[in-house]
Amino acid sequence: MCMMTTLVELSPQLIKLCETLHLTGPAYWFIKNTFFNHFCGGETPEEISVTMEGLKSAGIGSILDVSIEVDLDELHEEDTPEAIRALWNGRADHVASLLKGSVKAASVEPNSFAAIKLTPLLSPLTLQKVSYNLYNLRASFETSPQNSAAYVPLNQSELEDFDLFMERINGICEYAKQMKVRLMIDAEQSYFQDAIDYAALEVSRRYNQLGQEMGPLVFNTYQMYLKDSTRKLRSDYERSQRQNFTFGAKLVRGAYMVTERKRCAKLGISDIINDTIEDTHHCYDSGVEFLLDQINPTDTLSTTHAAFMVASHNKDSVNKTCIGLEKRGFAPKTEMVMFGQLMGMKDNLSYSLGGNGYRTFKYVPYGPIQEVVPYLIRRAQENSTVLGAAQEEYDLIASELKLRLLGQAATIPIEVKTA
Ligand SMILES: Cc1cc2nc3c(=O)[nH]c(=O)nc-3n(C[C@H](O)[C@H](O)[C@H](O)COP(=O)(O)OP(=O)(O)OC[C@H]3O[C@@H](n4cnc5c(N)ncnc54)[C@H](O)[C@@H]3O)c2cc1C
Repeated sequence: MCMMTTLVELSPQLIKLCETLHLTGPAYWFIKNTFFNHFCGGETPEEISVTMEGLKSAGIGSILDVSIEVDLDELHEEDTPEAIRALWNGRADHVASLLKGSVKAASVEPNSFAAIKLTPLLSPLTLQKVSYNLYNLRASFETSPQNSAAYVPLNQSELEDFDLFMERINGICEYAKQMKVRLMIDAEQSYFQDAIDYAALEVSRRYNQLGQEMGPLVFNTYQMYLKDSTRKLRSDYERSQRQNFTFGAKLVRGAYMVTERKRCAKLGISDIINDTIEDTHHCYDSGVEFLLDQINPTDTLSTTHAAFMVASHNKDSVNKTCIGLEKRGFAPKTEMVMFGQLMGMKDNLSYSLGGNGYRTFKYVPYGPIQEVVPYLIRRAQENSTVLGAAQEEYDLIASELKLRLLGQAATIPIEVKTA
């Protein structure tokens, strides 16, 4: 049903209509028993732990993802700056406690992760200002030292709010360290990303010190669909080496291509996304190769210079990584190179990887249905390739069913190269 693009496009209006008609009960019942059960881990800690247990029995770990998102369109023009500030700080404190709840839920299974989105932890306007300043500062260094950076000053309350933002993030990291749960910081829209990277760097420096038994605590995300991605990946890795901490990364292609392209066109700036999908594939695969070259098979999590996750549904990238591991003498079960797919997506790939001993994880969105549904819709609308992947999965299941009905031997699609 999620492959019906018209249905996906109309779903926000359909849900609004159900709200107006007081039909949210039956609508949510329907969603829970279809989309939700397929793509999400559950609503309550009990439901999530059942999902985690099921994944574990197939050799797959969990990355719990409490689904909260914000964007600039959540603000209303009539709101005063003080009202907006109070609203966001209240909300950010609440989100920080939900994220700690996610860490606690993840701690039930050893080696789990909690995914965290940083945008709900600070007002989007302040986050965007900080990002703008950091971006211009870096750009001025990279182009010519004489170029003075454009700068939007932050007022006293914004500076205080930024300190609160960092305090919230440090608090979550401290709790995660105590609970032995690793954190994946999601990458988001480009206009927030410099501030997210700044915060990720601060906590990586502090929590990814070499010599810790559980290895790096913090993994930042690299969106390889960006033209600037290779430079950024390499320079962040090199900085981690200069500053003597383990580089923790999750490599993705990127989920906001449509909206990022539209924004660039609207602002009249050159597109920040690679011109072609082939360019993105190239950036992704060469990023993986670069990181594989930084890791030694004799390293352990506590001594490694880098640990990373290939977060992708692309079987070519997964295969290339498996071949790259084998070529360099890594056992599949190395803890320094992991694989990740979204729950309900490319299960054949995840189960093959897990079954062959590779460290494999599922991103497990969870939470009360009314909060998870907008997240699911946004993801489905933004990421049309996800729908394409679902079609592929559907075709696989259909051909498997056909084989079984015809009484032929069942096939298990092994898509990964086994070592
Ligand atoms: C475990 C996990 C965690 C994730 N976390 C994040 C996250 O924190 N932040 C985030 O942004 N995304 C995240 N994603 C989503 C991810 O960025 C991709 O959108 C999604 O996985 C599809 O890419 P793919 O590698 O699976 O493969 P494919 O389906 O082979 O690649 C599709 C991707 O290629 C890129 N692309 C498509 N067409 C073009 C084109 N014409 N030109 C240039 N590039 C193109 C787009 O990025 C598109 O999503 C995550 C995905 C997974 C599996």
